[in-house]
Amino acid sequence: MKTSEFTANDILARVHDGQRITEEEANRLFAEADLVPLGAAADAVRARLHPDRITTYIIDRNINYSNVCAIDCYFCAFYRKTSDKDTYVLTHEQIGEKIAETIALCGRQILMQGGLHPKLKLGWYEDLLRFIKTNYGIHIHAFSAPEIVFFAKINKLPLRTVIERLREAGLDSIPGGGAEILVDEVRDKISRYKCTTAEWLEVMRTAHGIGMRTTATMMFGHKETFADRVRHFEVVRQLQDETGGFTAFIPWTFQPENTQMPMTPVGSHDYLRTLAISRIYLDNFDNIQGSWVTQGPKIGGMSLHFGANDLGSTMIEENVVAAAGCAFRMDAQKLEECIASSGFTPRRRNYYYQYIT
Ligand code: SF4
Repeated sequence: MKTSEFTANDILARVHDGQRITEEEANRLFAEADLVPLGAAADAVRARLHPDRITTYIIDRNINYSNVCAIDCYFCAFYRKTSDKDTYVLTHEQIGEKIAETIALCGRQILMQGGLHPKLKLGWYEDLLRFIKTNYGIHIHAFSAPEIVFFAKINKLPLRTVIERLREAGLDSIPGGGAEILVDEVRDKISRYKCTTAEWLEVMRTAHGIGMRTTATMMFGHKETFADRVRHFEVVRQLQDETGGFTAFIPWTFQPENTQMPMTPVGSHDYLRTLAISRIYLDNFDNIQGSWVTQGPKIGGMSLHFGANDLGSTMIEENVVAAAGCAFRMDAQKLEECIASSGFTPRRRNYYYQYIT
């Protein structure tokens, strides 16, 4: 029987039986599947991987070391040009203070990203990483693939050398930011000067190749089609089959306020369907993160019934999504209440999804 002869319910029945779905089948789910059966199938995949009904979260802080960026993604409300008056580059002391506050709040990790600063050379980042590792016991999750590709270009070094030098200086893992949608036609429409799909994948492949773990993200709800979302799932699933280096998949929705792309943000129905299809498709990812930061606590709690087994972080500080008009906040207690009231048991974790309480 050809895929075109299967109904969405046939495909979901096969998901309940533990089978992998194809791109064509995922496209059919986007076109035809109803929210409730889709959620039930995603929940079945989640239950197979996490039968204990434990939902994890981490306490961490986003630190944006600089808002200067050499390129202008249309969807970004955070960056400033070198000539703007409100640019900044944080000092070691300022970053140190933020880390000390994070540790005082039981934080285990910092997520550190900037713009693509045209003047900061690789040595600046190595010094910063060494300063942090010498003074603080914290996991450094930093520098998205576009930053690493940019470092390689402006320092005229191979990607592998850049990643090895950063790791040597203290980098623990690489965030999946900058993936947006891993289809070049879409990337050309929203961030034409950012790294290509192949470059994003090469950063991840290289990091995995030297034993470093990374995450994969997807920002959706802008210029892409459902088929583009499925293509994105496919390229990250292929790389995960090859390396097994991704710890988690984190889909979140585009926040248009203050950006050059005014449009209506994706609603919770589309968010939950996409989350569920990602859980179904990415059968080789242990963890899928629900996005309460862009969707709010209620939908964040609902996401646990649509395939998510993790609610990300308390985000002691978050600047990028906040610049685009999204201001949801939850501390650890609220996050735990949100998880418990959704019928799951909250556990705090480290970057590697090991429980720490
Ligand atoms: S998303 Fe990143 S690379 Fe793009 S403009 Fe903003 S800071 Fe620069």
